[in-house]
Amino acid sequence: MTQVLLVTGGGRGIGAATALLAGQRGYAVAVNYTADAASASSVVERIRADGGRAFAVQADVSDEAQVLAMYARVDRELGLLTALVNNAGVVDSSQRVDEQSLARWQRMFAINVFGTLLCSREAVKRMSTRHGGQGGAIVNLSSVAAQLGGAGQYVDYAAAKGAVDTFTRGLAREVATEGIRVNAVRPGVIETDIHASGGQPDRAQRMAGMIPMQRPGTAREIAQAILWLLSNEAGYATGAVLDVSGGR
Ligand code: NAP
Repeated sequence: MTQVLLVTGGGRGIGAATALLAGQRGYAVAVNYTADAASASSVVERIRADGGRAFAVQADVSDEAQVLAMYARVDRELGLLTALVNNAGVVDSSQRVDEQSLARWQRMFAINVFGTLLCSREAVKRMSTRHGGQGGAIVNLSSVAAQLGGAGQYVDYAAAKGAVDTFTRGLAREVATEGIRVNAVRPGVIETDIHASGGQPDRAQRMAGMIPMQRPGTAREIAQAILWLLSNEAGYATGAVLDVSGGR
């Protein structure tokens, strides 16, 4: 049976590395993006060039109507979903909590938390044996910030990722007898565009000395952990939150 995977935010960074590795391992891949169509198409082209199946699908994961439309397209183009990686996520500029606005928190939680919940809800409707599905696996992207708290930078982001950890454990237990495993990966500092989007393009290299392994991680190193959790080799793992952080 072909494995059908949806990767949210699959055009760049960790999501792109995950989509590419999944394509190499035989998954048919839906590559979601919100703004950067060119990056998403380039991931799709690379998967197809290797003989794999993929297509790009635009949707803002925090918008319910767009998420429903995205799933309808995945159903049509690839068939029954068997795997979901809730990777789409955002940070914001470094600010103390007493400087942050409600609008900032609403965006932070809408994308990082509600996006994960919305996409998971639609995945469960397709995967759960309770709904006539054949099971599947979900991997959520958390962050070591959920443990460390993000003080002075983005406590709101850390709190949103804490919610992702709790959601992972709760959903895992809720659907444990319905053929679905739900796990999370908590990356440390990884070399991607996300640091520039928070106004700190050199953050990953700057933080190297604070990481026990003395270097940031690569998107591929996170993708490898995600693909393991999706695979049957992780068949007894559910509700797990795996730190992949160079020891941080
Ligand atoms: P990135 O390079 O900034 O890429 C983010 C991706 O998410 C992009 O493809 C972007 O789409 C997509 N995205 C953003 N908002 C979206 C929305 N509303 N709807 C759909 N897609 C959306 O980020 P990354 O570093 O790879 O991070 C991926 C995940 O890992 C995030 O959840 C992040 O919090 C987590 N993480 C990252 C690090 C790190 O150091 N990099 C550490 C811990 C956790 P477009 O391409 O269309 O803009």
